[in-house]
Amino acid sequence: MPAFAGAAAMADGHNGTAVLEVQGLTKHFPVRGGLLPGLLSERRFVSAVDGVSFSIGPGESFGLVGESGCGKSTTARLIMRLIEPDRGSIRLRGVELTSLSEAELRPHRREMQIVFQNPYASLDPRMTVEQIVAEPLLTHHLVPRRQVRGRVMELLHAVGLNPYHLGRYPHQFSGGQRQRIGLARALAAGPRLLIADEPVSALDVSIQAQIIGLIQDLQEQYHLSLLFISHNLSVVKYLCSRVGVMYLGRLVEVGTAEEVFERPRHPYTRALLSAIPEPTVEQPRERIILSGDVPSPVNVPRGCRFNTRCPYAERICREQEPVLSDLGHGQRVACHLVAQGRL
Ligand code: SF4
Repeated sequence: MPAFAGAAAMADGHNGTAVLEVQGLTKHFPVRGGLLPGLLSERRFVSAVDGVSFSIGPGESFGLVGESGCGKSTTARLIMRLIEPDRGSIRLRGVELTSLSEAELRPHRREMQIVFQNPYASLDPRMTVEQIVAEPLLTHHLVPRRQVRGRVMELLHAVGLNPYHLGRYPHQFSGGQRQRIGLARALAAGPRLLIADEPVSALDVSIQAQIIGLIQDLQEQYHLSLLFISHNLSVVKYLCSRVGVMYLGRLVEVGTAEEVFERPRHPYTRALLSAIPEPTVEQPRERIILSGDVPSPVNVPRGCRFNTRCPYAERICREQEPVLSDLGHGQRVACHLVAQGRL
């Protein structure tokens, strides 16, 4: 067992029984540069995910937020090992996944299922709903063959679909219904962890609330741990008990949803939250407009990655990269000034 096993869980306030523990997860993608590839080009890398650590307890919902391109979705794919990490540890119910072969990984992968932003792209258009939902049941031999149809109907009922949908194809459904099919297929595998990667951002606003409510119901009914990835902070605030904020491939703040949303400490978190419409007029929140764009992940700024946009940046911020410091109550923040008690 690696020396850091359980460290992320305990730092997050768990007692070591986390369903998922991610420690030091890192992925850099090579990119080509220069006019003559292979001759004048230097080897450069996109720093997609860099040393990310967090854990999710049983039945807990953990939200991962940040601007587009900050590494949230890559983190999800690394956890599923849909792409291979360069470094780091991924432990699912205590089992280290990064060292497993594809065959060894299969039973563990069943325990973590993912639903994507675009369910249409992840549903085989040539398969009926019955075939799509039955596939995990048959692949993993989860129920006797003669009980498969009954189980599929149970799952369709759980996600709000009807038996007459069994013989239909994905193109015959709306976006919201396709997301329900994706959820039924994910549940069919009997997961302990559900990863939802921007599951409602492609849906009409009127449908989003229905799917969010459904995910919440299913999480409770099936005792799921949830990793919910979204750029929509209002949804994360509503759904998640803990939150991690990512910027340029790094976690900059982790804590309970209450702490992070009510008392954000990292300047980037404060700026993100200041953009949420204020629910009350009595306590108007000052809108913080960040200067400049998010730097390219190919040219990550030296020191604190946020220093090029941070209104409080000092010399130390441009020289040393801050690490996540534990502020107590499971809240961790990567900022020199916060660590020094000056912010
Ligand atoms: Fe801003 Fe410095 Fe804190 Fe980074 S370390 S968030 S630049 S104050």
